[in-house]
Amino acid sequence: MLTDNLNRKIDYLRISVTDRCNLRCRYCVPSAGIAKLPPQEILSYEEILKIARIATAKGISKIRITGGEPLIRRDLVFLIKELLRLPGIGDLGLTTNGVLLKEFALSLARAGLRRVNVSLDSLLPDRYRWITKRDYYSRVQEGLIEAERAGLSPIKLNVVALQGFNDDELLKFALLTKTKGYQVRFIEYMPFGDGYEPQFSSFSLAEAFSTINRYQKLYPVQGDGVAELYRFPDARGELGFISPISRCFCPSCRRIRLTADGKLRNCLFSDEEIDLKCALREGGSDAEIEQLLFKSVRKKPPGHMLQDRSISNYHRRMPLIGG
Ligand code: SF4
Repeated sequence: MLTDNLNRKIDYLRISVTDRCNLRCRYCVPSAGIAKLPPQEILSYEEILKIARIATAKGISKIRITGGEPLIRRDLVFLIKELLRLPGIGDLGLTTNGVLLKEFALSLARAGLRRVNVSLDSLLPDRYRWITKRDYYSRVQEGLIEAERAGLSPIKLNVVALQGFNDDELLKFALLTKTKGYQVRFIEYMPFGDGYEPQFSSFSLAEAFSTINRYQKLYPVQGDGVAELYRFPDARGELGFISPISRCFCPSCRRIRLTADGKLRNCLFSDEEIDLKCALREGGSDAEIEQLLFKSVRKKPPGHMLQDRSISNYHRRMPLIGG
């Protein structure tokens, strides 16, 4: 089974199905923009399914579909259905910006998707428009309602913690958990190189917790992921804090990533990549692909080391990795 040199059992594969997105979030897309990948460079669903089949036979039991924005890719419901047929799959997730969720929530649920993560950094339409450079706030809200109606649960809201942008919306987001069964998670902003306008930084999640806890006492909840979970005693939903830098969880990391153009990344912050697409398109056997999976995992770095190094430039930006 896939285990790295630090004896971390790798059972979680994040698959980016496209580099395209219908938003231009200022902390994700550098102000100069990003060159799009030529369509022929993008893995076909058959290629993704082949890699997933081999990977689930070697211990991958959790898969998350990401992008860019995955709902942009045609026939994504087909891929969801086929992935859920793989014998080793125990959990399938999807991270979306919610803009197309109203259209797809029901068909995704019918295909077998159980839950969804939606990225939403502000509950103020003007601010949403500023940070995403698109006027789609109401579509996201409609998408969330449709996801509830389709029975997707839990619905997790991912809120990137941005100093001077949404730190004054803490309580608004937290109080959402009282009326909605959402799991609202604040995610520490992780710098991904230069070229962003403005250059963002994270607000402290420890201070965010204290602010909310002062408003009303939060009680810890047992979770199974990287989020530290809490709940107001009278709430339907939960509140989560994900701190990859200040409370680094790399020592227990279980994940690897497959980019839309078929590169295997053993860490979000490592530019070490193995090209599975070429191996596949040159007729590589299951055994050869398997060897490349093991090779990548063996080279997995201990962690991001972001505490002790600044990052000027990565050769691959977030929309081309899938977070
Ligand atoms: S930074 Fe790398 S090692 Fe750390 S949690 Fe993310 S993927 Fe895992």
